[in-house]
Amino acid sequence: MINLVLFGPPGAGKGTQAKRLVEHYQLVHLSTGDIFRYNIKNQTELGSLAKSYMDKGNLVPDGVTIKMLESEVDKHHSAKGFIFDGFPRTETQARALDDFLAAKGMEVTVMLALHVDDQELTSRLKKRAETEGRADDANPEVIANRIAVYKKETSPVADYYKAKGKFESIDGIGAVDAIEARLKEAIDRRI
Ligand code: ADP
Repeated sequence: MINLVLFGPPGAGKGTQAKRLVEHYQLVHLSTGDIFRYNIKNQTELGSLAKSYMDKGNLVPDGVTIKMLESEVDKHHSAKGFIFDGFPRTETQARALDDFLAAKGMEVTVMLALHVDDQELTSRLKKRAETEGRADDANPEVIANRIAVYKKETSPVADYYKAKGKFESIDGIGAVDAIEARLKEAIDRRI
């Protein structure tokens, strides 16, 4: 079982890299952002709740997010492992994930943290706003808030995995193929 936590600020390239790693390692990709957007599109109750937070660039409350993530994991009984993309984003979520996996005899293999500077992030998000039409990418104030929320609430999650010796920092600048190779090298060292 391989359970990867893909970590990094908005625009770091988590989604792009997750797609490649999923194929290579035969894992199930769980992106909390994608699941929330799917629920918004389908006008579910969860979607309308999540939307009110996402539109401002704030985090969806932990209780809601954790419950949703756990039910997604439970849908994939025969999975060889998971890539968690956009989760955990708070220390509470990280602890919940550990407890949840431990109860199933599983654990997080490694957190892979993509490193990209603020200027590059802002420019990538602007480009993504044009191609993917995500509302939260189109508004500079919302982008700034997402980066601020990341620094305050999410970046401490890295320390949580560092303390467990499960942290790998990956340079997220350069060609997509080159970054993919860096990630695979770090994963292969751990499995
Ligand atoms: P990005 O990393 O580019 O901001 P995501 O698609 O990962 O994009 O997330 C979009 C939004 O979804 C976040 O700004 C937040 O509102 C919500 N979200 C995603 N994952 C989580 C999470 N683990 N906890 C709380 N909110 C989340």
